[in-house]
Amino acid sequence: MNPFDLSGKVAVVTGANTGIGQALALALAGAGADVAAVGRSPADETVAQVRALGRRAAFVAADLSTIEPVGRVVDETLEKLGRLDVLVNNAGIIRRADAVDFTEEDWDAVVDTNLKSVFFLTQAAGRHMLARGSGKVINIASMLTFQGGIRVPSYTASKSGVGGLTKLLANEWAARGVQVNAIAPGYIATNNTAALQADEVRNKAILDRIPAGRWGDPSDLGGAAVFLASPASDYVNGHILAVDGGWLAR
Ligand code: NDP
Repeated sequence: MNPFDLSGKVAVVTGANTGIGQALALALAGAGADVAAVGRSPADETVAQVRALGRRAAFVAADLSTIEPVGRVVDETLEKLGRLDVLVNNAGIIRRADAVDFTEEDWDAVVDTNLKSVFFLTQAAGRHMLARGSGKVINIASMLTFQGGIRVPSYTASKSGVGGLTKLLANEWAARGVQVNAIAPGYIATNNTAALQADEVRNKAILDRIPAGRWGDPSDLGGAAVFLASPASDYVNGHILAVDGGWLAR
């Protein structure tokens, strides 16, 4: 038996239309999972690519800047794909400003999307998983789950919070068959980081600091997601797996 096989499983991936979310959706589909691509923008390309891999896919429209849609995301996934085995909390935003000038709006926007919605969507999916006695939650954390960063106070707070919640939920749910873990990506080349990549000075500083000597590609995270979604990780609880080219090791 292949312990990484996801055949017959349904994975919900938030923010799956682009970047890391899209890559994770495709990696999970490549391992056999059907995929509910959740987001506020249509995910036609992701849905088409998952189907091209021979898996079922559905788009579930939801703006996760509020928790209003979380119950519907679970219900629509069950209606459209019949199961919900894996939840990948990937959707996220960042706002940059000095801490001394940081606004309440930039605080709320980031914390509501990156932390509050992550908790309440996990609660909604978790109720379903706990009732069945199995399930996997994968939170997308950050290097700023471990480090302070600079000029991103609400992002750092949200991603630290995601790390804490990963452990709390793992503690509460491990004995009931639901594993909660996280992936902490390093510097990954997506739209989110396009400005950093384009800035020659900052790009060089980043590359000099990464032991692997390159930016991560979203597909670099696929193996970690398949592992944490699969039976191979059944005894892994509350772990935050850095996929960062060695950034944290430095
Ligand atoms: P992108 O900006 O490329 O993608 C973000 C995704 O989140 C998009 O699909 C976006 O949808 C979605 N999203 C944002 N806000 C909402 C919302 N209110 N409701 C629903 N969906 C929403 O970012 P990345 O792929 O780079 O990042 C994905 C995750 O990885 C984030 O949580 C990020 O913090 C984390 N991360 C990224 C790193 C990197 O270096 N790239 C490093 C560490 C962590 P839409 O297109 O509609 O805006």
